[in-house]
Amino acid sequence: MTARIIDGRARAAALREQVGTHARAFAAAAGRPAGLAVVLVGEDAASAVYVRSKERATEAAGMRGQVHRLPADATQGSLLELVERLNADAGVDGILVQLPLPPHMDADAVIAAIDPDKDVDGFHPVNAGRLATGLPGFVPCTPLGCLMLLREELGDLSGLDAVVIGRSNIVGKPMAQLLIGDSCTVTVAHSRTRDLGQVVARADIVVAAVGRARMIRGEWLKPGATVIDVGINRLPDGSLAGDVDFASAAQVARAITPVPGGVGPMTIACLLRNALMAAHRREGMTPPAGL
Ligand code: NAD
Repeated sequence: MTARIIDGRARAAALREQVGTHARAFAAAAGRPAGLAVVLVGEDAASAVYVRSKERATEAAGMRGQVHRLPADATQGSLLELVERLNADAGVDGILVQLPLPPHMDADAVIAAIDPDKDVDGFHPVNAGRLATGLPGFVPCTPLGCLMLLREELGDLSGLDAVVIGRSNIVGKPMAQLLIGDSCTVTVAHSRTRDLGQVVARADIVVAAVGRARMIRGEWLKPGATVIDVGINRLPDGSLAGDVDFASAAQVARAITPVPGGVGPMTIACLLRNALMAAHRREGMTPPAGL
């Protein structure tokens, strides 16, 4: 078998286009554009690149993007003050604090300071609780993007066996919650899992979010499985690889996301989607259906 390559770039471009159409309609109806504020602390090169691309994508989708930069030695207090200002700013619908923060800062405390109704990253404990209990809230962008790709590829996910590898708060755990919400039978594997190969072998859906280049091997997969590779790993030659050994997995899987060009582009598109949802809710308007 040779797997179908799931084109995350094309799916993300379509979603951004849809969001753009609704964002322009929102601006006309509300008399202001939807606003997304991104906070960047320090000069981490990868974070700076992510923040720039988020800003560009926000503007391209017809929303107002603003980036607030604090120096690497900024105090936790000054960051919390900025978050409070953005919470109170009526033109800001979504707030995203780019992680990781410098080691002297407490990321949990900063996330908890964001107004849950502006928490477009979906990391606030209130939104994690809403997701766990099936209430409407904000869902973290990366797992939301994975779910969209899976639904498009497989249609109804009900009854399928899914294995999520990784249990982080930003990818693994919310991914598992979303798959439970779509009536999959979900197993979460992690660093203490015994015999990962055997766990993976029973899955119709494999979502890998570990951060170890090519650790999931094709021969572990159930023939016909659908594989979503969240991992982004820099190889010694400077190129990028996912957590899945793409060459061997593509021989066994039914469909697989490439790295790059799979899950990554969906993350930013879902961020724009969440910001647009936030803007509608804050204005008491019905969020657009089907996004
Ligand atoms: P993390 O370090 O917070 O979590 C990694 C998880 O992997 C942990 O839960 C750990 O238990 C598990 N793990 C570690 N070793 C393992 C092993 N040998 N077997 C099974 N599980 C193991 O990472 P994260 O923030 O969840 O990110 C995971 C990967 O996804 C990274 O490569 C990251 O760069 C990437 N990522 C990509 C996007 C995107 O937009 N595409 C977004 C977020 C994260």
